[in-house]
Amino acid sequence: MRIYNTLSRRVEEFKPIKAGEVKLYTCGPTVYDHVHIGNLRTYIFEDILRRVLISNNFQVQHVMNITDVDDKTILRSKQEFPGEKPKQALGKLTRKYEELFYEDAYKVGIDFSHSKIIRATNHINDMRELIRRIPYKYTSDDGIYFDISQDKNYGTLVKLDRTHEHHRINNDEYDKDHVADFALWKTAEKDEPSWEFGIDGKNIAGRPGWHIECSAMSVKYLGQPFDIHTGGVDLIFPHHENEIAQSRAAINKPLANYFVHSEHLLVDGHKMSKTRANFYTLDNILTKGFDPLAFRVLTLQAHYRSQLNFTWESLDAAQSFLKRLQAWADLKFQPALGHKSNAGHNYDTVFKKLVRALSEDLNTAEALAEISKLVTQAESEGVVIEKLQPMLKKLDQALGLGLANRKDVSPQIKKLIFRREQARKNQNWSEADHLRDELANQGIDINDTPHGPVWSRA
Ligand SMILES: [Zn+2]
Repeated sequence: MRIYNTLSRRVEEFKPIKAGEVKLYTCGPTVYDHVHIGNLRTYIFEDILRRVLISNNFQVQHVMNITDVDDKTILRSKQEFPGEKPKQALGKLTRKYEELFYEDAYKVGIDFSHSKIIRATNHINDMRELIRRIPYKYTSDDGIYFDISQDKNYGTLVKLDRTHEHHRINNDEYDKDHVADFALWKTAEKDEPSWEFGIDGKNIAGRPGWHIECSAMSVKYLGQPFDIHTGGVDLIFPHHENEIAQSRAAINKPLANYFVHSEHLLVDGHKMSKTRANFYTLDNILTKGFDPLAFRVLTLQAHYRSQLNFTWESLDAAQSFLKRLQAWADLKFQPALGHKSNAGHNYDTVFKKLVRALSEDLNTAEALAEISKLVTQAESEGVVIEKLQPMLKKLDQALGLGLANRKDVSPQIKKLIFRREQARKNQNWSEADHLRDELANQGIDINDTPHGPVWSRA
């Protein structure tokens, strides 16, 4: 399997530290609001990476953090829960958005059932210990800072202009033009949640900086170095650069061997922003009547390292493609099309090609093209019912498209289909048309084939 490594800026052969095993870390959501569809694109990419590793017979140990304390969560918790004690307000806010995150992730086919998901606030002590081990640091009135001027290795992921390195910055996030000493631990203001930190004979009531959260949590469960660290490209700097610097400073080993990043999602050609009114969450997609998996298909149609331009037209096209796949999957309920004994004989070949495409730096578009060939074949030749379901299961494991678990139509619909077929046989055309309309009202289209009627969901 080959994958693009941001550390080398090259597609590399993937070699795990321990044969057959992969330790994978994902920067999880900061739970202060609904995630937007750009965030979801990143989590779908990470889900695909995990699935492709499994398809390549690796045992994957996946860890993802939940950032439930940082600048944004604290600010929002004061706004949403003004009367509460700071820590309680923070807890209420972050649990609420953590739950909403899982709901959205589940709807777009992300499978966290084998992932270890951990909260930052449950690992404060690991962060304290890591900070104690970092030699390049100094204390200021507003916190403990990482001293970039002492770190010769700083700038592992990106080439940086270090002329500003003696400035220090208090924000968790800052732009690329501000290479600066960053906070490992931030002194709490009066009405902010805080934890005690005894260091160098002093006690600093405060909270961890964002970057130290991931360094401490990833290494605690995966060791140092671990295999793959993932995130969106927006995390390369400063977040991942700072994670690498802290972890290396603490124990003089790299943090991870591969850094894999997915590109931005644009909406109508622009970066999403609330002022431009092109800021979408999954709910905005669902209210327009789209299948959430259509969004997943849309993201898979582009390569993860390309910017993806979201438009309603492109989502519409993705939904049409998904519907074709679903109609194909639904053939397993319909013996009428199970007429050709050799239809589906090339499933194994196609699946191998699909895994090969995915294993070449996650070429999801080519993988979808392979499935499309199968569907086209089924549309003309039919399927062998018994062979279809095992194939759908394999495809779901690789791509998470939810094809294997689809439900049959209700007995009542089946009866209508049967009655219409009887009417047709008796050449009672008006009755047949009437029943076709009734089925259409219930969202079922009928296609008459030489082998009998085949339904599909409209
Ligand atoms: Zn992180």
